[in-house]
Amino acid sequence: MIYVRSQKTAVIHYHEIALKGKNRAFFERALMTNIQKQTRDTGCRVKRIAGRLIAQYDPGNEEKLIEKLRHVFGVHHFKVGGETRADMESMKKAARELFENIKTKSFRVSATRSEKNYPFTSHDIEVKVGRVIDEELKIPVDLSNPETTLSIEVVEGKAYMSIRRIEGLGGLPVGVSGKVVCLLSNGFDSPIAALRMMKRGCEPILVHFHSYPNTTKDAIESVKKIAEIISNYAPNPPKLLLIPFAEIQNFIVSKIPSSLRVVMYRRWMLWIAEQIAIRVRARALVTGDSVGQVASQTLENIQAVSEIATLPILRPLAGHDKEEIIDLSKFYGTHEISKLPYDDCCSLFLRGSPKTNVSIAEIKKAEEPIRKELEELAEKAIINT
Ligand code: ATP
Ligand code: MG
Repeated sequence: MIYVRSQKTAVIHYHEIALKGKNRAFFERALMTNIQKQTRDTGCRVKRIAGRLIAQYDPGNEEKLIEKLRHVFGVHHFKVGGETRADMESMKKAARELFENIKTKSFRVSATRSEKNYPFTSHDIEVKVGRVIDEELKIPVDLSNPETTLSIEVVEGKAYMSIRRIEGLGGLPVGVSGKVVCLLSNGFDSPIAALRMMKRGCEPILVHFHSYPNTTKDAIESVKKIAEIISNYAPNPPKLLLIPFAEIQNFIVSKIPSSLRVVMYRRWMLWIAEQIAIRVRARALVTGDSVGQVASQTLENIQAVSEIATLPILRPLAGHDKEEIIDLSKFYGTHEISKLPYDDCCSLFLRGSPKTNVSIAEIKKAEEPIRKELEELAEKAIINT
């Protein structure tokens, strides 16, 4: 193929960003920066032209680049291939070379052009280039269900040609919506909740509460691995804060009846998370709650827990079934770690079932006499993080 240089090209499309009116340039720049950071070790170069991003890379790095681009929120889809001059002869020659090297039962050409003064319509390109493949290489055209689609995008005097389109994650570039503090446990839900908010442009700060020495350090190791998987989807590795929760938990156990403990643990996790949010200028807290999933997640208990925080608490999985969440964990790659059984700090020291309908009045009444001590212990936990 008569590529300009010996480089290959990925044309990267975004979707939702294009709708953002005057913020568009800001969103595009954010996406470009994120792509540059996330694909850093492929050595590709990214530029912005006419409503898309172009990444130039060495052919040997193609699979690696594809893998990286698949992890960038804000990418709707991308096409890998090459670029050539946008005159008809060059495009035909490039098409011929592309199809000479593959086996396919049928094809179609799908062309777009962004310049008005370009001498051919998209349809002209499709017909003329298509004829070469059909007549010279004897590959039949199939407009409705082709095995291979040759995409040709004519932009600023170049034609970007590709027979490989890959779907991206969609959503918004991480960071454009601001920071959030994500409460991250070892389970299936909270990593997915964090990733879903990243998909909406949020930059996560990950906070995990551990009960060491009440539990082993295994839970900490596993949460670190989960954080590593989450980092694959972020331009900068998110901070993971490991908060020592054992002392607070022991204190709650000594003062609060078992039926109220889960709600109380959750309240103080949120209290600490909010203090951290204020310090790092995050605008919301994120949890993996799904309504009705367990005792702490009935609507009554969600209300009793949430009352302690003033920042919005985002619960992106509130309406998801466990099965849907597990499917998402397979999709994002957290499943294998989340499925391992670890002692959860919240299931410690519970006798009998937790109460499912704790009222705000009831929990505040129980908390009132020990609130000051709890705040001191919580501040201490933050300092010892
Ligand atoms: P997950 O699968 O996320 O652990 P779960 O089904 O086990 O959730 P809970 O244990 O009730 O549900 O936790 C509800 C939410 O509270 C979690 O999704 C998470 O956001 C937060 N949370 C629970 N335990 C911890 C912890 N040890 N550290 C940080 N956040 C936690
Ligand atoms: Mg859990």
